[in-house]
Amino acid sequence: MQEMYSKGLIPISSVKQVRALGENKFEVVTSVRTFVFRAEKEGERQDWLEVLQSALSSQFHISQQPRKNNTNKSGFVELRGLKGKVFLSLMGTCFRLCKTDQDFNAGLAISVVDLTAACVKQVERRGFEVTTPFKSFCFTAESEHEREEWIEVVQESIVETLCNYEVLEKVWFNKSNRKCADCHATEPEWASINLCVVICKNCAGQHRFLGSGISKVRSMKLDSSIWSNELIELFLEVGNQRSNSFWVANLPPVEELCSQPSSEQRASFIRQKYKKRKYKKVLEGLNTQEELNKALCAAVVLPNVLQTMALVFSGADVMCATGDPEQSTPYLLAQRAGQRLQMEFLYHNKLSDFPKLEGVCDSSFATDAPSFMDGFLYCSVNAAKATLDRKARAAVLLFKRFSLAPIVLLGTSGKGPVVETWMFSLEERARTEPSIKLGSWWQSTGIWSTCSAIGACFLSQFLSSSLSQIPRDN
Ligand SMILES: [Zn+2]
Repeated sequence: MQEMYSKGLIPISSVKQVRALGENKFEVVTSVRTFVFRAEKEGERQDWLEVLQSALSSQFHISQQPRKNNTNKSGFVELRGLKGKVFLSLMGTCFRLCKTDQDFNAGLAISVVDLTAACVKQVERRGFEVTTPFKSFCFTAESEHEREEWIEVVQESIVETLCNYEVLEKVWFNKSNRKCADCHATEPEWASINLCVVICKNCAGQHRFLGSGISKVRSMKLDSSIWSNELIELFLEVGNQRSNSFWVANLPPVEELCSQPSSEQRASFIRQKYKKRKYKKVLEGLNTQEELNKALCAAVVLPNVLQTMALVFSGADVMCATGDPEQSTPYLLAQRAGQRLQMEFLYHNKLSDFPKLEGVCDSSFATDAPSFMDGFLYCSVNAAKATLDRKARAAVLLFKRFSLAPIVLLGTSGKGPVVETWMFSLEERARTEPSIKLGSWWQSTGIWSTCSAIGACFLSQFLSSSLSQIPRDN
């Protein structure tokens, strides 16, 4: 066969009956159509009939129902090079081309195309092109919106072909890892490999905002190369339930994340939980950095990883001096003691940046404020009379990073068709002008009027307290 793809498929699942006819012919009966074939010789016809009958009976044992329900998307599209429309359906990591939707329902197809190593792109008009290593298919959707949807689902299917479920299945073997450690969503496919928690896609997005010094987020389906046997074992040993026995030991029920949280609620909870460590278990009798480090050195040579986690997340220094001239770090102590899981945990936390005991006071201001905020604001020159005119709406994104960069403002203000974009970093200005005044800076950059509504409308306690200190003299 020259073509990689067939011109017609009759899945055994759609075949109802196979019958011998005269003149070396036989017929294959499906619910919508009967196909008549003719063999060259009588013996050959008999071979065909036997093979088809046995395929039919084994199919009957496997399943009496054709697989229909796992379609990601289906609908009519035009296919370049073919007259009329075809019925395209995307199922798992394959798409199926059928002449009509009846054919699709009966399981008949022109072709089934595997999306492994394929790519999809938008082309002119309402078109999209799916390119596989063997052939390109150029489709035209019924509308722009349909085209967008097709591209999105095909993209998802292509990603799915890259996925590896081995890690996921192993890590889920610990039952508590089958629910997100933060929002309890089922079948979480992401993990924070240093915090030892399995999390859902949405929570993973919020973990990224914490920075890799707090949470190192990895996919269990896509980043399979980093999942060593030791890391998987660590996740099986610890698991979400035991991790949470530390992270949310003191979580008041009212502060628990609800089942369908908004992204603000999710962001806030995750920040409180891991960055501020608001709900963590309090370790008794460890009041100084030295005591914490000493306890860490003692813990890493024993099998209890949870104890090591509690110490590190409470501020014990993973790179502290052990006092041993040969095993100078906790990692080397664990190695000598043959504690593989301790080594794995310490390895993923060697660059972690949990506030140390002495540093807690100076960082409290920074950790109180949100690290990321965004929203649309209505602008008005007169702050007391904020307009609700959509044209005067400005988008303001406010970032606040830990230590060095106090504020970055990024946004656009729409004035009719003209949109101006601005982005300022206070950090850059503070470097060159140490005694910078916020008020004059905002005025000189001409965005004071845009921002004057912020104090009235915006929510952050931090922001409103900062704004109240800005003199308004225009
Ligand atoms: Zn979640």
